[in-house]
Amino acid sequence: MTLIPSVPAAKRVLIVGATGFIGRFIAEAGLDAGLPTYILVRSPATCPSRAKTIKVLQEKGAIVIHGVVKDQEFMEKVLKEYEIDIVISAVGGANILDQLTLVHAINAVGTVKRFLPSEFGHDVDRADPVEPGLTMYKEKRRIRRLIEESGVPYTYICCNSIASWPYFDNTHPSEVLPPLDQFQIYGDGSVKAYFVAGTDIGKFTIKTVDDIRTLNKLVHFRPSCNFLNINELASLWEKKIGRTVPRVTVTEDDLLVAARENIIPQSVVASFTHDIFIKGCQTNFSIDGPGEVEVSTLYPDESFRTVDDCFNDFAATTNGVTSPNHVDEVLSKIAPMCA
Ligand code: NDP
Repeated sequence: MTLIPSVPAAKRVLIVGATGFIGRFIAEAGLDAGLPTYILVRSPATCPSRAKTIKVLQEKGAIVIHGVVKDQEFMEKVLKEYEIDIVISAVGGANILDQLTLVHAINAVGTVKRFLPSEFGHDVDRADPVEPGLTMYKEKRRIRRLIEESGVPYTYICCNSIASWPYFDNTHPSEVLPPLDQFQIYGDGSVKAYFVAGTDIGKFTIKTVDDIRTLNKLVHFRPSCNFLNINELASLWEKKIGRTVPRVTVTEDDLLVAARENIIPQSVVASFTHDIFIKGCQTNFSIDGPGEVEVSTLYPDESFRTVDDCFNDFAATTNGVTSPNHVDEVLSKIAPMCA
């Protein structure tokens, strides 16, 4: 008799926030990896672009579940009925504490093998931005502590900055073109950061979910090919568009004033910009703790999309025409997000 080796069943993934900026990349990566992918969607879809995202994901095979994470009883039912193995949350900055109920539900059910809370930025235990960014980090820290105290198996994804021009007042910078009229350079523009394409945030996040080496670990994304300061980003973009663009300095004080204005979400982004490009929060520590790992060392054969490639895409969008009217037209096409 020949024994046929059994193929382990693909893990069932539930993604909360799949219609959002980061969640969409993760849902697409889950589907591309062939994982049975469920998406929790607040109903009804609040704007046409979100409805379109849901449709695209459904066409790729996502199964839609309508509901909200704040309803613990409902979440327990979902986790049990659909036999969910992995839960990934990408709720936005304003909804971080909605995850408290989700953690309680995961803990009560006891069958979820991994939970990835909505992190997708910096190590919130290390970074110390000024307010109002600090409040968001305190909320993310609170979710971490609840996960750890409950004994829920977890992975924290610290993917650093999304590959794009890092506007200091825009939460989703990769939705818009890098500047065509004037660069704003933070401080002397020499502090480096790591930039990761949205598709790679999705791809590498999905790789970690079923990897024993990332169990109860913090996973940092530090692609050496995309380690750049803002002066280097500006020069790269100038090469792509074939002309120079004036540079103005945004000082540390300017960023602190923008943060103190406390306009949400812009001031939150200003405080993170200060933390990244003035204080160097992505690089002022080494990854050497027992509970952390760098993603390129885990998957050395997997390449990252370069910022150079991402800027080629942006440049192709401008098509060489850079009049202000054309820019408005381009932006209205590529930034169809709701507020
Ligand atoms: P978005 O605001 O774009 O999307 C949030 C998603 O969560 C939406 O799909 C929203 O649904 C859903 N959602 C919110 N609350 C609930 C709830 N109670 N129940 C069910 N669904 C809910 O978020 P972002 O993508 O901007 O942020 C996600 C994470 O990524 C955050 O932790 C943020 O800090 C981080 N981030 C990192 C960036 C980086 O450069 N590294 C850049 C931007 C964000 P609905 O469609 O109904 O509104």
